[in-house]
Amino acid sequence: MSKVLVLAEITNGAPAAATAEQLTAAAILGEPCAVVVGKDASKLAPALGKLGATTVYSAEVAGDELLVTPQVAALAAAARDSNASAVIVGSSPDAREAGARLAVRIGGAYQSDVIGLSKDGIVTQQAFGGAFTVTASGKGVQVISLREHSVEGSAPAAAGEVIKLDIASDSTPATKVLSREVATTASARPSLAAADIVVSGGRGLGSKEKFALMEELADTLGAALGASRAAVDAGYCEHNMQVGQTGTTVSPNLYIAVGISGAIQHLAGMQSSKTIVAINKDANSPIFDIADFGVVGDLFEVVPQFIEAVKARKNG
Ligand SMILES: Cc1cc2nc3c(=O)[nH]c(=O)nc-3n(C[C@H](O)[C@H](O)[C@H](O)COP(=O)(O)OP(=O)(O)OC[C@H]3O[C@@H](n4cnc5c(N)ncnc54)[C@H](O)[C@@H]3O)c2cc1C
Repeated sequence: MSKVLVLAEITNGAPAAATAEQLTAAAILGEPCAVVVGKDASKLAPALGKLGATTVYSAEVAGDELLVTPQVAALAAAARDSNASAVIVGSSPDAREAGARLAVRIGGAYQSDVIGLSKDGIVTQQAFGGAFTVTASGKGVQVISLREHSVEGSAPAAAGEVIKLDIASDSTPATKVLSREVATTASARPSLAAADIVVSGGRGLGSKEKFALMEELADTLGAALGASRAAVDAGYCEHNMQVGQTGTTVSPNLYIAVGISGAIQHLAGMQSSKTIVAINKDANSPIFDIADFGVVGDLFEVVPQFIEAVKARKNG
């Protein structure tokens, strides 16, 4: 069975949830292996083994504040050593950059916005801002950027045998990140891109004060909070909450659009969600064309009742 590499993402010293999903996806295509880069990279091998990695290629690199050059060098070295048939990276900006650079370096086929894959290497991708869903295969080594919540289940635990990579001569970063500014106050809510449930509010909320209703809905459901661009532009919420073509792309199990009309640019960022619920007072809003469940009504009447019903169910 050919090896399939996964670029492990580390959050708070442990593999990120997305990495578990990517190893599950790798197990569909072949033998899942992880590539991990950073300080004490090989210490993560047991955790990655539990998630299904038979082999963990570790590149010890001093410092975490580096751009993607070391990841690309490590992936290229591991792909060469393992004769891998495919490489899977995440869908964050850094992971996508690493994947695209790797594909150029090794002459592989870069496949972005992948939302499904099968064992024969055929992938399902969203293209042109989500206007089309295409199936494709790649020539040579496939480098796949996988959207979160695209693959279900988990890979069986494996040995996580460590192979150290020496990328010292190949990984000098051209740039070093000196600091990262977080554009907003830290939130206890899950991150938009990774959340299982996303609730988003649009211009229909009417004001920043009324947008607080969306915060209450998000917190009742344990969801991430998003918004349409119109809501962001109107100052109801922070820019980093924007979902859509020029915002974050999300693919949660449940997406609830409240007071959002469903413009193509918004749909581009959320239409691969598994279940879509729309609440809108206009029955002709295009959001209802893609919604699995729709409520036609005034959001200020519907959402408070919805919150009460969820709370009652939680307490009951
Ligand atoms: C280049 C470009 C990029 C863009 N990128 C993005 C992007 O990334 N993300 C994005 O979202 N948009 C993007 N847009 C903007 C997009 O075209 C729309 O303008 C925007 O999505 C509309 O946001 P909205 O649905 O909140 O507002 P509207 O279109 O104004 O819709 C508001 C909705 O709220 C409903 N409503 C009003 N009051 C109530 C109530 N009391 N109860 C229930 N429903 C109510 C209305 O019926 C209406 O359907 C982009 C546009 C361009 C040109």
